[in-house]
Amino acid sequence: MFKGILINKDDAGYHAHYQEIDESVLQEGDVTVRVEWSTLNYKDGLAITGKSPVVRRFPMVAGIDFAGTVLESSHPGWRAGEKVLLNGWGVGETHCGGLAQIARVNGDWLVALPAALTARQAMAIGTAGYTAMLCVQAIEKHGIKPSDGPILVTGANGGVGSIAVALLSKLGYTVVASTGRTSEAEYLKALGVSEIIDRTELAAPGKPLARERWAGAIDTVGSHTLANACAGTRYGGAVAACGLAQGMDFPSTVMPFILRGITLYGIDSVMAPKAVREAAWDRLARDIDTAKLETLTTEIGLDEAIAVAADLLAGKVRGRVVIDMNR
Ligand code: NDP
Repeated sequence: MFKGILINKDDAGYHAHYQEIDESVLQEGDVTVRVEWSTLNYKDGLAITGKSPVVRRFPMVAGIDFAGTVLESSHPGWRAGEKVLLNGWGVGETHCGGLAQIARVNGDWLVALPAALTARQAMAIGTAGYTAMLCVQAIEKHGIKPSDGPILVTGANGGVGSIAVALLSKLGYTVVASTGRTSEAEYLKALGVSEIIDRTELAAPGKPLARERWAGAIDTVGSHTLANACAGTRYGGAVAACGLAQGMDFPSTVMPFILRGITLYGIDSVMAPKAVREAAWDRLARDIDTAKLETLTTEIGLDEAIAVAADLLAGKVRGRVVIDMNR
């Protein structure tokens, strides 16, 4: 038996409980990991509260991320004692996940914990931070350099947003942050933001083309915000879209694409191939400012995860949450 967050479903809906879990709940897998640190992402909020049907098998151990130590392995790539991390692959949705002290998974899904990061730091980054890096890499791959102009980050106080801001600032970009929490201006400036705009400016229906304000954008909220991010992108620029905190719709027109030649990159972290993940984690190990990472991180115990998951969906959590699995 070990402790974890177990999600069940009945006629009344979803129920998440912090409880003792029997190992028989875990599915097949060739690597068993002692989970030392985990985290809460937006999707974990959806799964734990049942607000969206992201969990597709019951009972399900919640948690799309974990970091820990291999206990047992019959996978050729891993040996007992090695430090590993996992993001996505349907873990916490269709395969029992990382919000439990033990996980059993397919060894192909694991990434070696970068030597420069502790398991706690890796989970402070988590799927949110790894997705932020995938977005930054899309901006770079497009050829946008710091001298080309500012980069807009939407949902800047959230997990993906906060880490995107920290990474872009470390890489020398000027960052414009869109947020509903302008009261967090000092926090955002400390992370590296130069200009803050109230998210209401971008959240309502806008014009097909707006004033060219940014060379690129990282959008975590979707809907009109994404449409307005595209409409305000300079000629030849690029937008990396990864989220839907405002909505999953995309009420845009073709105008920014056919008159300004902008490019929209779709970012998926869940099924990204192993080589893409390893490259992103290598970059994170090099480019994350660990002092800034600490300032954007709140640590909780596993027994607090259900309450904090609801806060996260309500937009009350700033930055990232790490979970000490042994507290
Ligand atoms: P968080 O909850 O930490 O952050 C979301 C932020 O979005 C909030 O902090 C808030 O920022 C902003 N926001 C919330 N509600 C609204 C709203 N109604 N309108 C406009 N802005 C809003 O979540 P994450 O950062 O972990 O995830 C962000 C998004 O990215 C989610 O939609 C998530 O599903 C998605 N995601 C996608 C991944 C992928 O692989 N494509 C991987 C990881 C995440 P503020 O207070 O600054 O306004």
